Parts: sequence; C-alpha cells; structure tokens
Amino acid sequence: MMIKFLDLVGQYNSIKGEVDSAIESVISKSSFIGGEEIKKLEEDFAQFQGAEHCIGVANGTDALEIAIEALELPAKSEIIVPANSFIASSEAVTRSGHKVVFCDCDPNNYTISIASLKQKLTSKTKAILAVHLYGHPCDMDELLSLAKEKNIYIIEDCAQAHAAEYKGKRVGAIGDIGTFSFYPGKNLGAYGDAGAIITNNVHLAKKTRMIANHGRIEKYNHVFEGRNSRLDNLQAAILNVKLKYLEDWTKQRIAIADYYLKELDGIHNLKLPKREKWARQVYHLFVIRTNSRDQLKTFLLERNIQCGVHYPISLPKLKAYEYLDSASEGFFANKTDSELLSLPIGEHLTIKDADTVVKAIRDYFSEHEL
Ligand SMILES: *Cc1c(COP(=O)(O)O)cnc(C)c1O
Repeated sequence: MMIKFLDLVGQYNSIKGEVDSAIESVISKSSFIGGEEIKKLEEDFAQFQGAEHCIGVANGTDALEIAIEALELPAKSEIIVPANSFIASSEAVTRSGHKVVFCDCDPNNYTISIASLKQKLTSKTKAILAVHLYGHPCDMDELLSLAKEKNIYIIEDCAQAHAAEYKGKRVGAIGDIGTFSFYPGKNLGAYGDAGAIITNNVHLAKKTRMIANHGRIEKYNHVFEGRNSRLDNLQAAILNVKLKYLEDWTKQRIAIADYYLKELDGIHNLKLPKREKWARQVYHLFVIRTNSRDQLKTFLLERNIQCGVHYPISLPKLKAYEYLDSASEGFFANKTDSELLSLPIGEHLTIKDADTVVKAIRDYFSEHEL
C-alpha cells in the first residue's frame, strides 16, 4: 500500500454524494458565472477566516496581482518577498509593475525573516509580501509595527494557510489584504483553479472586486479597465461543500504533524520544523531538512512513501531572477534548498500511516548514518 503525498480521489469519494449534487444543481440551472453559490462562498469564507470582505477570483496568482494593483503603489515600488516560496509570490510583484526584493527566511519556521527583511528596507519599499509558508503564520506583530513605522503595506499570501492562526487570529485580514489559492492540492482546493482575496478594508474590497470584473460596478458600466478573474459558480459550489470539512481536515493535519514532531525528535542529521508558540500551523506541508535529502527520498519511495520538495530551487536562484543577482546572497534559503523534504501529510492519512513513515525514516538513519 502506497502512502500518498496527496489523495484527491480518496477525498472526493468521502464526499461524493454532496459534491455531485452540488455540481448538478449548478449545471441544471446553468448558473455558471455569478450566482448564489459564489455569494455563499464569499460570505462563509470571510467568516471562516475572520474577515469582513471576501472576493472570489480565478486563482491564487491573480489574487496576488489584483491585491497589489488595488494598493495603487507608485510604479516600480520595491516589494519585499521571502526567498523561499512558490514563484507566484514574486511573479505577481513584477507583473504588477513593481520590483522584487528578496529577503531570507527564518531557519526554524521558514517564514519571512524579520532581521533579513529590515536590512532590505529602503525609501522605495512600499509593501511586504508575508507568505504564511507551509501553513505557518509569519510574525505579524513584527511586520505590523514595521509597516506602521515605515508606512508600508502588508500583503498576506495565505495560499498555504487556510485556517492558520497568529495569536488566535486567523490569517489574511491581519495585514492590509490577504490572498488565497484554492488550487486542487491546497488545504481547501477546488476542482480546477480558483482563489480569493480577503480584507477588512472596504475600499480595497470594492477596488479588488472591480479589477477582477472588468472595472465595473454593474453590467456594462465600466469605471476603469480591469480584467476577467472570476471564481466560477461550479468551483464555488464544490468549495462550499468542502469548506464544511476544512476544520476537521485541518485538525487531522495537525495531529499527523504532532505525531511526526514527537516521534522524529532526536535524529541526528534531521531538522524538524519549529512551530512558534503563537502559531496555529495548518501544515499545508510538513518540511524536514537533511543533507541526505535525495537518498532519503529515494529510500522512502522504495518503501512506498511519496514525498515532495518545496521548493527545490530557492526563488533568487531561479533563472527567472538571474537579473536580480541575489542568488549569491548568503541566505539560509539559498543554502538549504537542497535539504528540504516534504513528508506526506493530509486528512487522507491516519496516525498508523504516520507511524509507517516515522519507522521508515528511523530505519534509513540507522542503516545509513550510524
Ligand atoms: C499555490 C500558491 C500560490 C498560487 O496559487 P494558484 O492558485 O496556483 O495561482 C501563491 N503563493 C503560494 C505560496 C502558493 O503556494
């Protein structure tokens, strides 16, 4: 039996009846764009994350681009992005006409390093992209006090952090604006691309909604040129079904993570992620570090355990960012991308599965590194 990294078929089978009838209902009334499902999702997801406004958009990358555009920053503003993330975080900055400035990640929880970030601030810095990487919240108080002092915006990239909490507060509307992805493999995933923006700022809520829908306030009344980035009603209907289970699924992720943290403790040459005491980490990914990453990954696959790597090349080292010349910066993130390994985690796993993973990892280290 394979221990899967992700099991979307298993998840679908567990809620098949509800999902099928939700899909059928949308199709039978052919209410594909706009409609009650998207309205319900926006209301319920805003409430779920503790925000006043939610705007459904086409995907998480668009959510970032639209959020940045809505801030109306001067052209070519500097936006600080952590060196370890998915490229969407930095891509959205450039696509919006601004300049990416990379900073390092924290070696314990892998989110943006406050110390490194402070060294990157200039008079042109207008925003910080706080990526709640692996479902661990960034240190928001530190970011908010910097933002206030320097008069800069905080954009929260919550693509991996549905239901994550910072000091008891759900992420996304702690800073100025937050973005989510409902890519199928995310903690809350659609059956295709989808995303959302949340905020407590009524102006940003209106502005982002208009950008995502051709700059209009009503049909054929366009105030400015926007774009088409809507979350469609079929996806919304599916997400409405899945949102009901998200809290339980999240708890299962945390239970698996707690098991890994307890049972993998004390292995020489294996670094576990550290969860800060103020964090509710939702473990979109459970990432360990070892300098025999590739060998361990192969070993685990031979034992029918699928792992992933997030991310194999730090953002500054990507060809796409050669022009920034920050690959050689002495970032922790640049030096350790070859050590990262994402263990299987998700609601599809049981503690017994987690135990199989733990035993295999312990076997590897006792056989190979005495
Ligand atoms: C998945 C992801 C995105 C992009 O979301 P899409 O819906 O795939 O466009 C952005 N940022 C992070 C950190 C992600 O993990």
